[in-house]
Amino acid sequence: MISYLTRYLGPRRAQGCADCQKQKRYTLLDAASDTLHGEFASEEVRQKRIEICKGCEYLAMGSNCKLCGCFVHVKARFKNASCDINKW
Ligand code: SF4
Repeated sequence: MISYLTRYLGPRRAQGCADCQKQKRYTLLDAASDTLHGEFASEEVRQKRIEICKGCEYLAMGSNCKLCGCFVHVKARFKNASCDINKW
């Protein structure tokens, strides 16, 4: 449990696995960690991300991503968040 908390509350580390170089999926815990660290995207970046999502085939009901399940207007606020299929 302590190592789990240390991972999310400690210093920021690079995203991804060093061995496989696959991109790590952004989770709710990452969002909580980013909130605690004040890691938010600028308004310009957030708007660009939302525009990309608006043109995406996986966006449902104008706000929900069918791939990750996130509300894109919320996910786009976090600096370290990324689209699961690398559209942003
Ligand atoms: S996060 Fe990515 S996959 Fe999901 S709606 Fe946005 S662009 Fe599409």
